[in-house]
Amino acid sequence: MPAEEPGLPEESWRWTEPTWRGHVDAVRAGRRLVPDRWPGGARAAVALSFDSDHETIPLRDGETSPGRLAQGEYGARVGAPRILRLLAHHGVPATFFMPAVSALLHPEEARAYTEDGHELAVHGWIHERNMLLGREDERELTARALDTLDALTGRRPVGIRTPSWDFSGSTLATMLDLGFTYDSSLMADDEPYEIVAEGRPTGLVEIPVDWIRDDAPYFTMDRYGAVRPHSRPRDVGEIWRDEFDAAYRDGGVFQLTLHPHVIGHRSRLVVLRELLDHITAHHDVWFATHAQLADTARTVLDGTAGTRPAPSERTP
Ligand SMILES: [Zn+2]
Repeated sequence: MPAEEPGLPEESWRWTEPTWRGHVDAVRAGRRLVPDRWPGGARAAVALSFDSDHETIPLRDGETSPGRLAQGEYGARVGAPRILRLLAHHGVPATFFMPAVSALLHPEEARAYTEDGHELAVHGWIHERNMLLGREDERELTARALDTLDALTGRRPVGIRTPSWDFSGSTLATMLDLGFTYDSSLMADDEPYEIVAEGRPTGLVEIPVDWIRDDAPYFTMDRYGAVRPHSRPRDVGEIWRDEFDAAYRDGGVFQLTLHPHVIGHRSRLVVLRELLDHITAHHDVWFATHAQLADTARTVLDGTAGTRPAPSERTP
């Protein structure tokens, strides 16, 4: 049997119960926040989001070649304007999570989001991997991102989505410290919930994401990797439609995450158009920004709204 090697993390099978329980309890899903009625008496809620990363994905990795940056530039130059036109055509709001560097590269776009009635929210400074940052760096970059979006648009964001869709050991404390009212990076439920830290409710609302409801895993590729995406956009659209239909039956939330440089292409945007046609054909759906959804979810915490039974208690 090999001896324990110094410097290596302790194998998980050696952990004591307090250790593995401690890891699990650090950040946990608390109360499910589905009110008994959505605003306007709607049966279900729809929260569309777009992560306007643009050039920050290659920049984050130190990739500065014109070819890589051009793929991101497409998102700002072509994708975002098309998306704004599509949302205006359907008359529905969305939330745009934008890294601050992306907003500084495209200030008119950042302002167009808020001027069109959408929400602009924090998505890191340069799409940094918060899991690799020290506590002070993470806090400073998040604060700087918040101030940058505020200065560009005159509106202080209330929501955040971490670029890595994950929490470091400092992320939750940073969010609470900077006054965010909701996060949208975790995946413990289909419906909004309250984040619980080490057994204590935090008051922070989580609007969960999932890779299933994200365009990037289906369509993006690493040029020098062996794996090539092969998803037909309409097949992906069918997944999202099934997600919406089930959320509608449950009386819950359909949340979607798209990227202008991914979904903005002609053969893909058609899928979003068809999805919006399908959803808006239902007259009892409430389209909300993530901030509006978080505010409504919070009425359950405040005790000003009743709670619906969990989906598992209503549908098979
Ligand atoms: Zn992103």
